[in-house]
Amino acid sequence: MYDVAILGSGPAGLTAAIYSCRAELKTLIIEGMSAGGQLMITTTVDNFPGFPEGVQGPELMDRMKKQAQRFGAEFKGGDATVIDLSSEPFKVTVGSETIETRTIIIATGSSSRWLGLGSEKKLRGRGVSACATCDGFFFTGKEVAVVGGGDAAIEEATFLTRFAKKVTIIHRRDELRASKAMQKRAFDNDKIEFQWNSIVEDILDTSQNKVTAVVLKDVKTGKKRELPVDGVFIAIGHDPATGILKGQLKLDEKGYIVTRKYTLTSVPGVFAAGDVQDPRYRQAISAAGSGCMAAIDALKYVQGEEATPGW
Ligand code: NDP
Repeated sequence: MYDVAILGSGPAGLTAAIYSCRAELKTLIIEGMSAGGQLMITTTVDNFPGFPEGVQGPELMDRMKKQAQRFGAEFKGGDATVIDLSSEPFKVTVGSETIETRTIIIATGSSSRWLGLGSEKKLRGRGVSACATCDGFFFTGKEVAVVGGGDAAIEEATFLTRFAKKVTIIHRRDELRASKAMQKRAFDNDKIEFQWNSIVEDILDTSQNKVTAVVLKDVKTGKKRELPVDGVFIAIGHDPATGILKGQLKLDEKGYIVTRKYTLTSVPGVFAAGDVQDPRYRQAISAAGSGCMAAIDALKYVQGEEATPGW
């Protein structure tokens, strides 16, 4: 029996583990299939306090994991497949094993959203990607498209200009959602072009098993045309990883866990931290901060100081 089971091993989960272990709570981290979370596919992190020269995302996560291990956190690889919050102790199944725990901290983060096209799925990893940092290098000297109009799309497009000879941002409106500073960065970059009021209807060419073009539809005129590209990067936002929790605790209309009074969820003894409950800030430092809060809230619950969240 664990005192705390933490789902997810990004900044929120690992910070929660550091705090819960230091409070002498028996702690298990279920790392998830993408152990370390989104920082594992990030290069330099310049805004995490304490690293004046910046730090590589994977190195930051490695340091957090080592720090959690130093205080005795146990780790288990893979995703939780069943979570039973119907009665205490809660039960979490990973692979063939089911563990029992007095509290749960959910820090499963969020994952990239896809357009939902059949061709997109078939060509993923064959020219279709949601991570410029991971795959940009493969497009040296080539032409690529980025879909989306938010900060992420601009960041991806700007990063891709290091490799690609031309980057076309495809946006469904005639105005970007991205911050003004990010917009300026894109407008000032000679390698970036825009296709406004356009949606991607299809990605070619599944018969060749590689990306050769995107089929664009102008949302105002309905006209279709092909834009030849060697790669497509999808940057249209993220979805919280809460599928497994549906019907068990309160989620908002976009699927994010609703927290109130710090990190408390609608189920007493279950806490949430990081991007899975935060569509707004989405920063490593804010995720880490809420991980700390969740561990302190779990400690209070185990000690019987906060038996019911009062909602
Ligand atoms: P956003 O939700 O901000 O933007 C998503 C973009 O994708 C929007 O332009 C949206 O269009 C478009 N979009 C959504 N769904 C579709 C679809 N099905 N087809 C076509 N286009 C679609 O997400 P981001 O990931 O860009 O950013 C998330 C958060 O992270 C924001 O708060 C952002 O500020 C932050 N961030 C900050 C960065 C930085 O400051 N360096 C870098 C990256 C992210 P529409 O505008 O029409 O809704």
